[in-house]
Amino acid sequence: MNNFKITGSIIQAYLVCPRQAWLMSRKISGNQSNISIEIGRIIDENTYLREKKEIRFGSNIFDMVKNEDGKIKIIEVKKSSKMIESAKMQILYYLYITNFDAEAEIRIPKEKKIIKVFMDEINREKIEITLKNIEELLIKEKAPTPVMLKYCKTCSYFEFCWAWFLGVYMKETIYIFSNGRLKRKDNTLFFESEEGVKKYIPVENVKEMLVFGEIDINKRVLEFLSQKEIMLSYFSYYGYYMGTFYPREHYNSGYMILRQAESYSDLKKRLFIAKQFVNGAIENSLKIMKYYNRRDKDLVKEISEMEDISDKIFNSESVENLMAHEGQSKQVYYQCFNKIINNDDFKFEARTRRPPKDCINAMISFSNSMIYNYCLKEIYETHLDPRIGYLHSTNFRRFTLNLDVAEIFKPVIGDRTIFSCINKRIITEKDFEMNLNGIVMNEKGRRKFLEQLEEHSTQTIKHKKLNRNVSYRRLIRMELYKLEKHFLEEEEYNPFVMDWWWNVYNIILWC
Ligand code: SF4
Repeated sequence: MNNFKITGSIIQAYLVCPRQAWLMSRKISGNQSNISIEIGRIIDENTYLREKKEIRFGSNIFDMVKNEDGKIKIIEVKKSSKMIESAKMQILYYLYITNFDAEAEIRIPKEKKIIKVFMDEINREKIEITLKNIEELLIKEKAPTPVMLKYCKTCSYFEFCWAWFLGVYMKETIYIFSNGRLKRKDNTLFFESEEGVKKYIPVENVKEMLVFGEIDINKRVLEFLSQKEIMLSYFSYYGYYMGTFYPREHYNSGYMILRQAESYSDLKKRLFIAKQFVNGAIENSLKIMKYYNRRDKDLVKEISEMEDISDKIFNSESVENLMAHEGQSKQVYYQCFNKIINNDDFKFEARTRRPPKDCINAMISFSNSMIYNYCLKEIYETHLDPRIGYLHSTNFRRFTLNLDVAEIFKPVIGDRTIFSCINKRIITEKDFEMNLNGIVMNEKGRRKFLEQLEEHSTQTIKHKKLNRNVSYRRLIRMELYKLEKHFLEEEEYNPFVMDWWWNVYNIILWC
């Protein structure tokens, strides 16, 4: 028997869509900024202010309970009568569980309607049958598969169920390079640089903030960012990632975290997911190598070595062994950079980090930290816990899942931006500086690179399978939804790999 509690909201959801009820029972919440939820919240906050008294009864919350001449009345407030039948069942359930001589009514302030609901033998039977059906649904290990309903369009789970149908982002990533002070002002964000330049940042359009300058920030701003669910990451003077202000998770689901953790502690399950990440990284790197090979770059030897490593991936018996293969694949892949890059000012010898020893390494390091950050931001928009990674061990590091997912997207977004910047001479030697025996990108270089990276990652392209446009950033989110579905055992996880036509089309476009 399971512990998933039936509530009035679950009953209402069940009558609209059983899948929604199953997800709710696992505390997998829908998108809280969904317009229907928002309207419901506004109605809730602005109606019956004097009468309003929410009462908790077990796991249920009644909108209002009144005592009218010694008779108890349970009241539910709804935003419209569109789903009145399911709303009636919800309130009938409240009458059923309270089991006292009560009345019930549904109020729809927008339509100026009051609908009375009574418990009688027919309704009692209806509710008992519904409860039995819901119990049978909730004990199922898997959620029912999504079925496109009229209601889906306005459902807060739309993105989760139908991610494949979604396209572009409207919000922006805000980069702050100047030194100054970030404030909360007039209910939005306000930045004042040391030079006295003042700028309002409309908070509703902010997706995330990446800070490269020295900024002063106070608790009010952090509270505001938290409230608006805006992640803020900060980087050192040299562009090294330092940390992230990760607001309280808004899509918290204990059930999903347990499933995620279970897939980590079971070595077989963990290895499966880790292999998929490495496989995705290698396949995408191979696509790029094959593209340039067809453009007379002679990468035949490297491609063959990479394919050999790719075959070994699925035979790895431990994550350490897998990591070793992944390391070899990176070496082979990076050897191709000198052949792919068409600019004598840039030479690559070997991958070096902390500090990078040449300009290409400096760009790779910077680009990778940006991709890690993109992935972290997208994880924040799902029910996944960024601390549980599969390829990168969950240890003292704060976030690891973003490092895993980034493996798939580093070649697709980051490396291709590097080739584009160098081959098109957008970035030159002047965009770097020496530091602590190594080389880093200077501020001008970082600005130029981020401009290109932002342009590439938000570019929308036609997705063959979906037959619609999606951005690369959206692809990262889709990858995470695929992982969630894997944890829910709805669909085995397969990494995103560029199609050949996609590959050709986009490399031509970028390089
Ligand atoms: S989006 Fe559609 S299928 Fe998914 S939970 Fe909502 S109503 Fe059900």
